[in-house]
Amino acid sequence: MGCCGENRSHLRSQYDRFKRGEPVMRESCRECACKHIAQARVLLLEKDKGYPAHYWFAMGHLAEAEDELVKDFPEETALVRAERLNLQKNRDYEMPFADLINAICGEIG
Ligand SMILES: [Zn+2]
Repeated sequence: MGCCGENRSHLRSQYDRFKRGEPVMRESCRECACKHIAQARVLLLEKDKGYPAHYWFAMGHLAEAEDELVKDFPEETALVRAERLNLQKNRDYEMPFADLINAICGEIG
C-alpha cells in the first residue's frame, strides 16, 4: 500500500474494512501513479540494454499506476490501461510517457 505519504490516514480505515470482509480499494493518488509510470519508463530503457525481464517489471508498474488511479480517476486509468495493452501487444511499442504523465500529473506541477 505504498504512497507518497499523503494518504496514510486512510490505511486504518482500509484495514478496518478488510477486517469486516468489505471491499478494500486503494485511495487514488495521481502523484504515485506518475511515479509508477516513470519507473516503467526507466525499466523499459533497461530492457533494451540486456535486461529482458525488465519488460515485466515495467508492466507491473503500469498496473500499479492503474491501481493508484482507479478509485477516483477512471478516465486516467483507462489511458494507462490502453497504453499498457499496447505494450502487451508489442514489446517494442514506443509509449508516449511524457504525454501520459502530463495527462495525469500535468496540473500538479
Ligand atoms: Zn501518493
